[in-house]
Amino acid sequence: MPAVRVLYGTRDKYEIHPAAVREIESFFGIRWSDILWDGKVQVPDLPQDKKLKEDLSGMLDPDKISLDPQSRLIHSFGLSSNEIAGLKAGRYPEIVDAVVEPEAKDLPGLIAFLKSRKIHSIIYGGGTSVNGSLLYKRKGLTIAISTDRLKEYRVVDNIAIVGSGWKGGELEKKLNESGLTAGHFPESMLASTVGGWVATKAAGQESNYYGSIEDRTIGAVVVRSDGIIRDTISPRESSGIMAKDIALGSEGRYGVITEVALKVQSLPKKRFYRAFILRDFESGIDYMRKLHGIPAVVRLSDAEETGFSLNNTEESFGIRYVRSRIRSMGFEKPCLIIMIDNDQDRIVKPPRSISLGRSPAVTWERDRYERPYLGNELWKRGIIPDTLETSAIWDNMATLHSTTLLEFERIREERGFRGFIMSHISHVYDQGACIYFTFAIMSGNEIEDLSAVREAILNNFITQGSPVTHHHGPGTLMRKYVEKNMIAMQALLMDPIFSEVE
Ligand SMILES: Cc1cc2nc3c(=O)[nH]c(=O)nc-3n(C[C@H](O)[C@H](O)[C@H](O)COP(=O)(O)OP(=O)(O)OC[C@H]3O[C@@H](n4cnc5c(N)ncnc54)[C@H](O)[C@@H]3O)c2cc1C
Repeated sequence: MPAVRVLYGTRDKYEIHPAAVREIESFFGIRWSDILWDGKVQVPDLPQDKKLKEDLSGMLDPDKISLDPQSRLIHSFGLSSNEIAGLKAGRYPEIVDAVVEPEAKDLPGLIAFLKSRKIHSIIYGGGTSVNGSLLYKRKGLTIAISTDRLKEYRVVDNIAIVGSGWKGGELEKKLNESGLTAGHFPESMLASTVGGWVATKAAGQESNYYGSIEDRTIGAVVVRSDGIIRDTISPRESSGIMAKDIALGSEGRYGVITEVALKVQSLPKKRFYRAFILRDFESGIDYMRKLHGIPAVVRLSDAEETGFSLNNTEESFGIRYVRSRIRSMGFEKPCLIIMIDNDQDRIVKPPRSISLGRSPAVTWERDRYERPYLGNELWKRGIIPDTLETSAIWDNMATLHSTTLLEFERIREERGFRGFIMSHISHVYDQGACIYFTFAIMSGNEIEDLSAVREAILNNFITQGSPVTHHHGPGTLMRKYVEKNMIAMQALLMDPIFSEVE
């Protein structure tokens, strides 16, 4: 029986430093050499609806309609830990009945047909969703519409008008050839698509300087069953609700985003990199809060994440010197801060900090799209990695951080599994910032323990007055927390084809 990979990326590559391996081994009581799972699941036998293919062939090139079980399974899940853990345990999601890859010209006819036959659809970009937004409750025939062939590309006056199917890495490379950048760099850059970014209201790692996707998006084209909504290509428009307003955060509900007009700009001429160690997380928060010019990247790791980073670094004279400086300065909970910017003046040494020079920031940038592969290595060894992210105003940040760590510990002790949590602040604003929590658990009761941890952390976000997500979007996994707003929005933009899909 064929198998399908359910982990991030198409292949594995991550070199983890022996010291970090030893730390993980002793913490979880495992042997790194013991691989328990290859990250693949078997493709189930699925009935093939030949009539459906025949009907769709009226609108599409038959080569672009697939009933193949492997392709149908691949287009039926995203990469949240809940989904991966479920698949690993043999709990499959609903699997679509067909996968289609239309060109832009095919879409209006296809969507009208789907509506007339009450066939539901899931729009599939890069499949990197981490919130269950590709999952659905079966209410009849469902197809996945892949955006893979939507590859329009033209650039005019610092606007790139691009098809929604462009993967971030490919698009950025093409723009770079003309000396341009789209300024949007999510960690999932190599696998996620422009349409997915807009549909999830994503934020890239340099959002401090370039803004998030809503700041980069000038306009969009959305194909719906009731017609095509198209924004003008102009610097700004004030003609009421625009296609881009419907597209941003829509998660596939209000139509297929086929094109996006993105702001582009010249590549920076220079990059400046610095890293420092601060006394503790609170000093870092205080430093970030008082920043006048916020660097493009400013990323503060808490003591736990800093400890992990220091262990995942080649042992050298430099590292030994840093450890001795940390001791001599009496830093008991040292925290790493890295900064990158095009303007040296925006990188200001934090008071009472230890300078680490450029290299931690250079290394961070070099490896920034590689880190998800570490998660894959944990999955293969029976450890579940996960992240939850939110935002908070500066006043609430330290409490949100400490209470989330405590909640994790409470659940861990109550349920008796092994696990750790660490955190960092990034995406910085004058008002506050986004804070990420990365945790890993090992348990004999994976799915239930994972759900309990996520529930406790998300409830804590809400208790502390924060949203359940800063940029991953609600999807189906967080939907219950934002249900009221979403129902109101759907009532405004009701379209049977999309609204019937969960
Ligand atoms: C390792 C990893 C790192 C990540 N890092 C970041 C990060 O730094 N910043 C960030 O914001 N997110 C991040 N994410 C989350 C994810 O990559 C983003 O949500 C991304 O924007 C999803 O894009 P996609 O093309 O993969 O969309 P998909 O996963 O295919 O789809 C996501 C949602 O968008 C809808 N959709 C997709 N394309 C269209 C379209 N053309 N028209 C209408 N609806 C559409 C889908 O129906 C679905 O509801 C990360 C995820 C992973 C796995």
